[in-house]
Formats: sequence, C-alpha cells, structure tokens
Amino acid sequence: MLSSYQKASRQFGFLFWTLLVYIIAALIWWFISLEKQNRDMTELRLSRLSYTASAQASQVSAILDQQSRNTTKYIAEGVTFLVLILIGAFFVHRAMRKQLRYVALQRNFMMAITHELKTPIAATRLSVETLLYRELKTEQQKKLLQSALAETDRLNTLTSNILLASQLEEKTFRAAHDTIHVSEILLKISGDYVRRFPERTMNIQIEEGLTMQGDVVLVEMVFSNLIENALKYSPRDKTVGVKLKKEAGHILIMISDEGTGIPDSEKEKIFEKFYRMGNEDTRRAKGTGLGLYLARKIAAAHHGTIKVKDNSPSGSIFTVQF
Ligand code: ADP
Repeated sequence: MLSSYQKASRQFGFLFWTLLVYIIAALIWWFISLEKQNRDMTELRLSRLSYTASAQASQVSAILDQQSRNTTKYIAEGVTFLVLILIGAFFVHRAMRKQLRYVALQRNFMMAITHELKTPIAATRLSVETLLYRELKTEQQKKLLQSALAETDRLNTLTSNILLASQLEEKTFRAAHDTIHVSEILLKISGDYVRRFPERTMNIQIEEGLTMQGDVVLVEMVFSNLIENALKYSPRDKTVGVKLKKEAGHILIMISDEGTGIPDSEKEKIFEKFYRMGNEDTRRAKGTGLGLYLARKIAAAHHGTIKVKDNSPSGSIFTVQF
C-alpha cells in the first residue's frame, strides 16, 4: 500500500511534469510560428521586389539579412525563456519535495508521539486506579508504584528530548566543558543495559582511562541511544557490541548489532529529525525518530562525528568519533 507521502509525491510529480512539458511545448510552438511568420514576410518582400523592374541585389540581401537577424533574435529569446523556465522549475520541484517530505515526517512524528505519550499515561493511570480501588499487599503496591514511576520517567525522557532538540537548534547553544571520563561512563551505561536486559548478550571492550572535554549528560545520551537502538533493532539471540578505543588521537566508540541493518539509501536519512525507517503504521519498535538526530547534533557540538556502516554478516556499526 502506498503511504500518503508517496501518493502526494506521485500526484505532485504528475502535475509538475505535465505543466513543464506543456510550457516547453508552448515555447517551441511560439518559436515555430514566429519563424514561419518571418519566412512569409521575407517571401512577401521578395515577391514585391520582383514586380519592380529595378530589383537590386543589395535590396535582396538586405531582406535576407533581416530574416536571419529575426531568426537569431527568436532563438536567443527562446533559449533565455527556456533557461529561466528550467531554473524556476528546478527550484519549485526542490521546494515542493522538501515540503512534502517535511509534512510526511511531521505526520510520522505526530503518530509516534501520540503513541509514546498515550502509552505511559494509560499505564500510569491503570496502576494508580488499581492502587486506589483495590486492597493490595504491600509487595503488590510497591510493584505498581515502581511501574508508575518507570512510566513517568519515560514521559520525562521524551519531553526532555523534544526540548533538547529545539535547544540544540539554537545557534547560541553551547555545550558544557567538563572533563568526561568516557571509559567509566560507557562501562556504567553498558552495565545498566546488561542488568536491564539479562537475556541479551553484550560484547563489551572498553579501553581504560580515556577522557575528553564536554557535556557529560549529552554524551551519556548519545551512548544510551546507540546501545538502546542496537538492542531494539536486532533479534534477542544476537550479540550487541560496545567498543571504546583511542586511535590517531581520536576517541572512537563503536556500537554494533547483528540486526537486519540499514540500507544505503537510508544511512543518512536516519539522522534527520523525526525520521524512522519504514511506515509508522507498520513499525513495531517504540520510538520518535529523535535519538539519532540528537546524537549527531550532540557529536557536532563536541566537534565530533557519527556514522553508520554495515556490520558483517548482518546488522550495523555506529561509530562516534571525538
Ligand atoms: P527511534 O529509535 O526513536 O525511532 P532514532 O533516531 O534513534 O529513533 O532512529 C531512527 C531510525 O533509524 C529508527 O526508527 C530505525 O528505523 C533506524 N535505526 C536506528 N538504529 C538502528 C539499528 N541499530 N539497526 C537498524 N535500524 C536502526
């Protein structure tokens, strides 16, 4: 089934190319009819000359000169029009495509966010209602309260991410300049995921004692997001790798998975704001499409880069370089 973006894109494509072909055909028609008029005028002038006995070779050549000057003028005007039309069409096409993509991303985001907001609210509500209307043992009460707390944490993270995205877009945004113990925090974050997902296998190779300057909270966010994605987008029985090393004066963090991987055509798009691969209606993993966008912005704010390449035999490797 076609997504609404694809449908709108096809409709726009059809309208755009029809109009462009029509305009160019009209231009060619205009040229042909002017040229025909030019020829007719020349013939008329020449035939008038032949009636008069004193037809001079110089007059004939003046008439032919006029004809060829007219032709040159029409060609120059036609080419100028054509170039202007093509430049205009190029900009209209680019702007429309951008606009259509933006509308599709907004729609995806609205659907994802509605889901991401509604789920924790509904879960928290259910926990609170159960606590309110049912007599429960202390142990059960504690469980429900913990679940409500976890859900509010989820909401909190989501709203912070949205806020952070708009802050990072401000030109005036400056990341903090603290000493970050990269080895320690990556070990701590990986350890948290090992505890949260005991059924998953994680291969952790961390070079000790690496530090850098920057904003601890933001850098932690990048690491968490990449590890979470690797776990989220790969099957449960596959290993997730976390590697940290120093190479040629740069700190390299590599998060690998053995999932289905990311096609080449999507490798840049996934870093766009709100972009999620596939169709929102069919997507099962939770998310808003903000994680990698934030990761790239945060890396850039630390003069770093983030890239993705294929893992072998399957999956992806995200590399952050500081
Ligand atoms: P979210 O996970 O909230 O959707 P992200 O910005 O973190 O947002 O990721 C954007 C998209 O990139 C995801 O929706 C997913 O389609 C794709 N993606 C990210 N990481 C991976 C990965 N490790 N393997 C496969 N696809 C991934």
